[in-house]
Amino acid sequence: MERPQQVEVRDRAEMAHVHGTSWGSDVDRTTVEQFAAEIAVRAGFRVCAVEVLRADGMLEFVAVHGAEAGRDLPVGRVAPYTVLEPVINCGATYGPLTFVAAEWMTASATEALDRYGYVPDRVVPPRPDAWRNEDMLVVRLSDDLDVLRGLLHLDDPESGRRPTGADLVRLCDDLHLTFRAVVSVVEREELAQRVRLADAARKVIRQASAQMKLSELLTLASDQLREGFHARDLQFHLRPGDGYRLSPSDAGLTPTTFHAINGAVEHAWREETVVIVEEDRVSGDGGLLEGAAQQELGRNLAAAGVCSMVMVPIGSADVHLGMMVIQRGPDTQPWTVSESVAALEVGHDLARAVLNARAHEREQRLTEELMRLDSYRTQMVATVTHELRNPLGVILGHLELLESDPALPSGWARSLTAIGKAAGRLDTLAEDLLTLSRVDATGQPPNLDPVDLGEVVEEAVELAQIEAQRRGVVVVVEHGHGPYVVQGERAELARVVTNLLSNGIKYSDPGDQVVLGLEADARAVVLFCRDEGLGISDADQTMMFEEFFRSTNRAALQRPGTGLGLPILRRIVERHGGRVSLTSALGVGSTFTVTLPKRRHESVADC
Ligand code: ADP
Repeated sequence: MERPQQVEVRDRAEMAHVHGTSWGSDVDRTTVEQFAAEIAVRAGFRVCAVEVLRADGMLEFVAVHGAEAGRDLPVGRVAPYTVLEPVINCGATYGPLTFVAAEWMTASATEALDRYGYVPDRVVPPRPDAWRNEDMLVVRLSDDLDVLRGLLHLDDPESGRRPTGADLVRLCDDLHLTFRAVVSVVEREELAQRVRLADAARKVIRQASAQMKLSELLTLASDQLREGFHARDLQFHLRPGDGYRLSPSDAGLTPTTFHAINGAVEHAWREETVVIVEEDRVSGDGGLLEGAAQQELGRNLAAAGVCSMVMVPIGSADVHLGMMVIQRGPDTQPWTVSESVAALEVGHDLARAVLNARAHEREQRLTEELMRLDSYRTQMVATVTHELRNPLGVILGHLELLESDPALPSGWARSLTAIGKAAGRLDTLAEDLLTLSRVDATGQPPNLDPVDLGEVVEEAVELAQIEAQRRGVVVVVEHGHGPYVVQGERAELARVVTNLLSNGIKYSDPGDQVVLGLEADARAVVLFCRDEGLGISDADQTMMFEEFFRSTNRAALQRPGTGLGLPILRRIVERHGGRVSLTSALGVGSTFTVTLPKRRHESVADC
């Protein structure tokens, strides 16, 4: 066999062994062990070990066949792949197999092997082709895309001899399917983990509707994720602005350790990693949890009976919101790399859900504040209006007395009429304001009595006759036999009809016609008021139902009004479950249409 070109071992600093994390379930490990045993027998070697290449670039021993090796090479032992790679590069390759003869290794490669792997101490017979203790036979376990997923080591051949090139080619042919089967187990395990955890995360996000409060979201997430991560305890620590909600005393930690944790998680956030604290090691923290802080955390974990504590940054885009702390007891498997990857995703998803929940809460607070202000304003308007009406009543009463006084000086009559008109307008305004605050959406709901709108229309027309005649406007009623019964408050519905009719008359000219009509189907009654009056411009139509809005049309402005009739009308209609619409053209006329459900719980939209 030819000696390949020698390569120096790099990354010596990374050679420290790392313990504590472990791959796969018991079933997965047993399966790989069985494959290792089978491969050893079929290949004619006494030792066969399988390492899995994890997402963090570490190789982890997951199965070791061969008693002697199992003792020296415990399952769960971890080392960086970067250390082993140059050693393998010293060898001769046959398909996925690489044989590295002891004498081909550089001094540093030998040293790396001493520290990394296990070099048995067997007596080597003085034959030139004898298998030497430092010899290595490695199988690259790659997936279909030729991505390395692990390594399989064969050691201690039963023949005691080094394999020839022909031996290695035969070995490849005989065992390539079994090697592939080992890769399948590795792939399946990773997939299962991802699916389980991604599922837990997705469940949280799916259930976290946009309407959820932050506390509800975190409770839900905590339950789901505790199960997903097999955690004994799972907490969220979010920082509202300057510091974590968790205080050092809450966590039972000294301030120094507490701040070190915050720093470590901040570091992990930038590095897109998680901080794993185990009794004898910490990873992912950028070296921030050292010395006293690490010891204190270790003591805390031991006192709480916790084997591992994983701190997962919670953040989205460039916003770091806090951390999720997952604690596992001794009855659970050690933390795996797939879980770290999934936990980071959960941290991202959670951040988005937290930001949504916060936005929703802010919105909710603002709405409540606006509603409070609105109800204050309504109350204030009602109080002031009441106070206005008393002196107004006195003015109007005395006016009546003065007007009926036969001794009234002749020049006073015009002034008294002007005072009467102004006081009357003030009284109307006060009454409209009171009605508006009474029919406010936040106020009492209306009574639900059966009201025949046919009757209400007749009464309204009768009351409006004098005004119509005064203006030379013809009022026509247009409806069938009815009945036009809806459920609601009669006085309020009468106000709707009166407002429409009086506006129709007010904004018409002599000779015009106002048609007040009713139609009905199974679910709704439609009231309409059609006039041939001034009409309303498109721009004004958009503002028509706003409080105090009066038309920009000069001709309309000259007619007295408060700008409260239509807003009152709209509120009454809406609190009766109905809707109002308007079609109009300037100089042509207007039609207002009010649709009311026959039964209150029926939405008009369904009609
Ligand atoms: P007002 O007391 O001013 O009549 P409303 O709220 O009832 O208050 O109406 C608001 C404005 O809408 C009025 O100022 C008027 O310009 C316009 N308007 C209402 N009804 C009609 C109508 N039938 N024809 C033309 N303009 C109307």
